[in-house]
Amino acid sequence: MSKVPSLTLNNGIEMPQLGFGVWQVPDDEATRAVATALEAGYRSIDTASLYANEEGTGRALAASGIPREELFVTTKLGNGDQGYDATLRAFDASLSRLGLDHVDLYLIHWPLPAKDLYVDTYKAFEKILADGRARAIGVSNFLPEHLERLAGETSVVPAVNQIELHPQFQQAASRAYHTEHSIVTEAWSPLGQGKGLLEVPTVVAIARKHERTPAQVVLRWHLQTGHVAIPKSVTPSRIRENFDVFGFELDGDDLAAFAALDEGRRLGGDPAKVNG
Ligand code: NDP
Repeated sequence: MSKVPSLTLNNGIEMPQLGFGVWQVPDDEATRAVATALEAGYRSIDTASLYANEEGTGRALAASGIPREELFVTTKLGNGDQGYDATLRAFDASLSRLGLDHVDLYLIHWPLPAKDLYVDTYKAFEKILADGRARAIGVSNFLPEHLERLAGETSVVPAVNQIELHPQFQQAASRAYHTEHSIVTEAWSPLGQGKGLLEVPTVVAIARKHERTPAQVVLRWHLQTGHVAIPKSVTPSRIRENFDVFGFELDGDDLAAFAALDEGRRLGGDPAKVNG
């Protein structure tokens, strides 16, 4: 039995609250990293066409021998493939690279507002869902204004919006919109890309108090805040460390201290401006 709690998506599908991300991991290294993650107990893997490691990820999934129904595999449509027909072709190519006949979650990677193709793209996602080739569909990096437009012009409410989210960039407005519309929030760069966040004195002090590492208390913050987190590492000890976050709880003081860390500053691109 998995010790990872799951969240129920708006179509009834269960999604593990803790997964494993593989951005910036070369294809052959992704095979090793995903294999280590599966051995450590992760069952949810987050890749993307743009990461150029769907094949390596798929090799590790196949070699693991873990029954398909115990895995939760997410991939994302590349930015160059938006548009109805191009999306259907790109999805086939992703499935083939992964070596799977369906994914658990398919996401539009970025809205690319200046291209104005995300509504048509999402209509192709609705077909993929209806055909049973994705168990759930959603988006990534969508601002509330993009979600509003989808709500007006398409039928299926996205199950998930995967956005940049960590204690220094807490995204209160997006999270409130998601809650109101039954969209699960999924945090990318949950460790703040392993840079300054893990050295912030408040985070270090909370880690000491619980005899845990800064990464572990940050991941606890994500879990207790109620969204999905997908930390990435290629370091086996960190892969295991990031999964060992179920034997303790942050208290009210810790959560208040985390709330005060929000700087409202992005590490990654601004979805209003990324267009390619
Ligand atoms: P993370 O916040 O997961 O941080 C990853 C970095 O932190 C790596 O450099 C890693 O180093 C380091 N690290 C991991 N664990 C620890 C630890 N326990 N202690 C210290 N350092 C640690 O950043 P990502 O940007 O990779 O985000 C996670 C995932 O989110 C991605 O892999 C991807 O799946 C997804 N993502 C999605 C985006 C989107 O647009 N939809 C954009 C960005 C990310 P090392 O690997 O060397 O161990």
